[in-house]
Amino acid sequence: MSTRKIPLAGVIGNPIAHSRSPRLHRHWLRKYGLLGEYIPLHVIEDDLERVVRTLPKMGFVGANVTIPHKSSLMNIADQISDRATLIGAANTLIFKDDGKIYADNTDGYGFMANIKQGAPDWNPRAGSAAVLGAGGAARAIIVALADAGVPEIYLANRTRPKAEALRREFGARINVVDWVQAGNMLEEVSLVVNTTSLGMTGQPELRIPLDGLRRGTIVNDIVYTPLRTPLLQTAEAMGCITVDGLGMLIHQGVPGFERWFGMRPVVDDATRAALL
Ligand code: NAP
Repeated sequence: MSTRKIPLAGVIGNPIAHSRSPRLHRHWLRKYGLLGEYIPLHVIEDDLERVVRTLPKMGFVGANVTIPHKSSLMNIADQISDRATLIGAANTLIFKDDGKIYADNTDGYGFMANIKQGAPDWNPRAGSAAVLGAGGAARAIIVALADAGVPEIYLANRTRPKAEALRREFGARINVVDWVQAGNMLEEVSLVVNTTSLGMTGQPELRIPLDGLRRGTIVNDIVYTPLRTPLLQTAEAMGCITVDGLGMLIHQGVPGFERWFGMRPVVDDATRAALL
């Protein structure tokens, strides 16, 4: 009789049925012939701490965390990476052998790896960036852009005080632009990122003027349903280099998978196909 334990991981959220993470991690487990399972876990806020403390006792080696639990995890984890502390949210948990829960945030890594794969010639130090939106995803992306050495970040958000709060937190390299002026900032930059939910299936369209976009500017939409958002379609027609949001979702899963299952997965066309 084998005494081998099957390593388990999963994604904790509410709702969770829509999550594509199970498909992603199961694809990699199959591809590399690894022993393991990855499970969607529907958990309400009141049960979060109890569930997270119990998972390691059930064979879980870690978990991803998604809406609405990314910030709550910060009060539950025993150890938190510097990145997650800076961002104020965690999306990846590692359950250590000594029982400690380690929380990290790989959204910024996923964002950056996606841009590098989609626009390999991009030099972060050579031009500024425009970010639309100042929600949870924007925090991770702004930290990643600043870390990569982007000299100036223009930031526009419908609710301006939220953008100003990010400027106070993350520094003077951020220039806050009024939402109604957002179109103006596109002329100056070599990278544009939509981090709002606008353009997502079921959400309103992103209605900022795009005529300031220049040929060769990299335009990334982190919304990935639909994959080719109206922003990406317009940008492509204007000669921009477009990068969709699916790659960010895939790449943010890489560090967790490697820690849990012992193999760094490759992100390729087959990985994307598994999610589409
Ligand atoms: P969030 O914290 O709720 O932030 C939402 C952002 O969208 C805020 O900046 C909000 O502006 C803006 N917004 C919403 N409705 C708007 C409207 N009608 N007009 C103007 N702005 C509006 O959400 P999040 O977690 O950052 O996620 C944002 C999007 O990114 C979602 O679609 C999510 O699915 C996607 N996402 C993708 C990935 C990936 O891996 N590709 C990762 C994370 C998130 P206000 O501050 O004014 O409300």
